[in-house]
Amino acid sequence: MKPAAFTYHRPATLDEALALLSDLAPEAKPLAGGQSLGPMLNMRLASPAHLVDLNDLTELGRIRDLGGAIEIGALARHHQLADSALLSQHCPLLVQCAQSIGHYAIRQRGTLGGSLAHADPAAQLALAAITLGATITLVRRGGHRELAALDFLQAAMTTALLPDELLLSVHFPKFAAREASALRLFSRRHGDFGIVSVATCVALDGDRVARLRLGVGGVAPVPQRLDSVTRPFEQQRATAAWVAAVADAVSQAVQPEDDARIPAEYRRELAHTMVTRALDSALQQLKSTTP
Ligand SMILES: Cc1cc2nc3c(=O)[nH]c(=O)nc-3n(C[C@H](O)[C@H](O)[C@H](O)COP(=O)(O)OP(=O)(O)OC[C@H]3O[C@@H](n4cnc5c(N)ncnc54)[C@H](O)[C@@H]3O)c2cc1C
Repeated sequence: MKPAAFTYHRPATLDEALALLSDLAPEAKPLAGGQSLGPMLNMRLASPAHLVDLNDLTELGRIRDLGGAIEIGALARHHQLADSALLSQHCPLLVQCAQSIGHYAIRQRGTLGGSLAHADPAAQLALAAITLGATITLVRRGGHRELAALDFLQAAMTTALLPDELLLSVHFPKFAAREASALRLFSRRHGDFGIVSVATCVALDGDRVARLRLGVGGVAPVPQRLDSVTRPFEQQRATAAWVAAVADAVSQAVQPEDDARIPAEYRRELAHTMVTRALDSALQQLKSTTP
């Protein structure tokens, strides 16, 4: 199928883009990498009267060190995140998540802002934003607002974005000195979205866990950060028994539902396996870098 007819706009500045959205919403949609919107247009799951192409707003593609946090513009492509030395040093989970997305062509075009705005329940960057406690900046003509990723992602394919608003940038807090991260996801074919995915960041103080952040995707309409489950496991020694206890607790806490393809119990078992593997990987990295 081909898309329904639309008027194409290519603003040269952010102000111009915001003015177009303000004048044309709700009949206009922003276009970033087109990796999700393109198929939706072709299948006529979306048929906006206007497309506002953001690709000339190159200032939205920056990755910047702000001291305590890294700021990433909405138009940063997945491959930029996957190859960023700054992120490898200060926020390696984002690198791991971006490297795992789809295929080479998708990573060349897809953007951070597009992925978060699309809000696929299995998207790795949404999982990273929730696990890392990211803050999302939204902008419309005449004002900005900031939302925690948890408040931005409201349900499957549903966010807090207003029709005339753009996702501008995302702030990710930097990692602590002795902190490592890992992503583990299970999919049936290389490059597919994960059926269940787990992201974790483990910070050690001596041999004790100073902080544990853990997010699970594919078990609910929005990735889950399970602080109330994982907090009791902080301040404990990071042993194999600890990993097993965290995996048991997380897999009991998640509440996947049966769907036409995959039984809930299978997702729960996958969550157990992915938590175990992700924690093992993060602890292994910390062991290999301890002087
Ligand atoms: C074959 C295939 C495999 C894929 N595999 C994966 C995968 O394994 N993991 C994964 O996470 N993703 C995967 N994707 C999705 C990919 O990551 C997309 O790039 C991403 O979901 C959307 O980003 P985009 O920049 O292409 O956005 P677009 O497709 O251009 O836009 C998506 C939506 O976001 C809105 N939007 C875009 N930018 C903004 C903005 N700045 N402000 C407000 N709204 C905005 C658009 O209006 C649209 O509604 C896959 C896609 C394909 C086609």
